Amino acid sequence: MLALGGSSHDGQLRLDVTALRVKVAPCPLCGPSLLVRLSQSQLGVRCIRCRASSITMSLVAVLKQLSPNLTDKSIYELSSRGPLFRLLRRRAGQLTISEFFDHVAPGDYGNGVQCQDLQALTFPDKSFDICTSTEVFEHVPDDRQAFREVYRVLKENGVLIFTVPLREKGPTIERARMESGRIVHLKPEQYHSDRLRGAGQVLCYRNYGADITGRLEEAGFSSARIVRLDSKLWWGLSAPVIMARKTSPPANRS
Ligand SMILES: [Zn+2]
Repeated sequence: MLALGGSSHDGQLRLDVTALRVKVAPCPLCGPSLLVRLSQSQLGVRCIRCRASSITMSLVAVLKQLSPNLTDKSIYELSSRGPLFRLLRRRAGQLTISEFFDHVAPGDYGNGVQCQDLQALTFPDKSFDICTSTEVFEHVPDDRQAFREVYRVLKENGVLIFTVPLREKGPTIERARMESGRIVHLKPEQYHSDRLRGAGQVLCYRNYGADITGRLEEAGFSSARIVRLDSKLWWGLSAPVIMARKTSPPANRS
């Protein structure tokens, strides 16, 4: 097992020698670099310099297309470590970060990082220009409420840009739900890893399909879409990135 630091979702990474490839290529986060493929997975593709996975590189590639200059942007990133956090800390005009801690009240701090429950954010309305996240929403019990909350704290014309594991075909599969504070499993349990809790510790509530854009629109977002990067990038292992914008409802437009 080869442990690699990365963004908050990755945990540990297994090296598959038969998949091993290396090439000189630009990294969206840190520029000219050496990329390595350690396994046939999005988390197996890494930048040697900043250690971003292809998930983080995909997100940043789309973010840069959207907003090449972040110095006048107020950004809310849903993690407190990893290459994306480090990039935003250098580039964003203002950066707000949070994590969800099981035993810290939302708004309070654990290890110097603010705890936020995406289903009930403590931020005022219209606080941020951009909200970013990688591999978070599949772990939120009520994602529709979370999307409504992110919509609320985004400024007018603000953008939510994020990744989740997306099924190639078919609709979202609900795997579990919260009922009266208890988790009810609808399908065999799936767990993902993160750097706070370790490998295989975070329950996956659902496997998203392309209908995720409908959930975002239900929450108030407009023009929700899935951006797919050039399929030849990164040995074909780029990640789809979901983007949605907060615009005024039609009734408010002149
Ligand atoms: Zn890099």
